Amino acid sequence: MINRRQWFYRVGLIASAAAQSGSASLAAAEGVAKTERKPLDLSEYEPKSMLHVRESHVERARFAVIDFHTHISFSAKSAKGVELAPERRYLGTPQELLAVMDRKNIRAMVNLTGGYEQGLADAVGRYDLAFPGRFYTFTEPSYSRFTEPDYPKLEAQAIEQAHRSGARGLKILKTLGLYLRENITSGTLVKIDDPRFDPMWDTCGELHIPVAIHVSDPVAFFTPTDRFNERYEELNNHPDWSFYGGDFPSNTELLEARNRVIAGHPKTQFVVLHVGNYSENLENVSMNLDRFPNMSVDIAARIGELGRQPRTAAKFFDKYQDRILFATDATPHGDEFPQQVFNDKLYEIYYRFLETDDEYFDYAPAKIPPQGRWRIYGINLPEPILRKVYYENAARHLRIAT
Ligand SMILES: [Zn+2]
Repeated sequence: MINRRQWFYRVGLIASAAAQSGSASLAAAEGVAKTERKPLDLSEYEPKSMLHVRESHVERARFAVIDFHTHISFSAKSAKGVELAPERRYLGTPQELLAVMDRKNIRAMVNLTGGYEQGLADAVGRYDLAFPGRFYTFTEPSYSRFTEPDYPKLEAQAIEQAHRSGARGLKILKTLGLYLRENITSGTLVKIDDPRFDPMWDTCGELHIPVAIHVSDPVAFFTPTDRFNERYEELNNHPDWSFYGGDFPSNTELLEARNRVIAGHPKTQFVVLHVGNYSENLENVSMNLDRFPNMSVDIAARIGELGRQPRTAAKFFDKYQDRILFATDATPHGDEFPQQVFNDKLYEIYYRFLETDDEYFDYAPAKIPPQGRWRIYGINLPEPILRKVYYENAARHLRIAT
């Protein structure tokens, strides 16, 4: 018996020797030490590109920006993926955020995870009211009350109250569809199009506030974490991000349930986050945008996908230029997601992607590409489209002056 290393060694030697000289014997090849194949752990592989290509540094956006998708505050209490408390924990002070915003030409940030009840009022007070025009806070459903019999009515009233407290929209985390269960954290999964949420969607339409909805996740998270998975390293580092197996619905089922919600509430505006939660398939996202006039998308945490299909992405931006919102998913001081830590570098990469035709650059400021081992290409958007994507489309949803 030979061990694995010896086997690699021999196979490598034979192949290499055969390539060099058809008549070379194994004995002769054994003297050529540099043909030895050395095992290398995937996590240690950091290839440096030898390409000579232009590197633009876009320090400031060409036009004023609204970042439609950030997380400045989070729930103080959650269990099994469900947020259970109105109280907020804050990840960045207004002062430290404003310093980056001013350097990067960011007029305003939308804090999607503003919570509800007292937590929401507190977040609005600290940011929106203290710095008018710079921060907009969204509310979230109070799932902790989900088992109460009149939840549908209570939740609709909670949205009205949140609106009076200053909420500018409703945020739905992927909790709905993947974590919320009949008994909140146990029982069967609650469907995205469960009719108990109908009054909530309708109330948002009546109040003219958008629903920023995240359902599902990258499609690779619904396939086995194996050698064929293009996000293998990411899933291997975060096994709990995988929704393959168990009682999880498929990605398709989740998107179809979401589509039924959008179709069933045509007077409500839905901003479907992360490029409609299917940036790997812009044809599918386009089809849905064509079907649903009340649907828009943001680009948060998906330039890694858009930028590896730059020609398709550029056409997508051209066709849907009135329905695509600039967004990053930025989180101050978060270190779990290197592609979305709120800092200057994060914005410079987004601006480079949107404003230049640079080739083959990193989509995240990380040693190893966090979402998959590829690089991206800029799409050099024309100025009128850039203005819409950076600012005007979000301003319309937030009902602020363009
Ligand atoms: Zn987010």
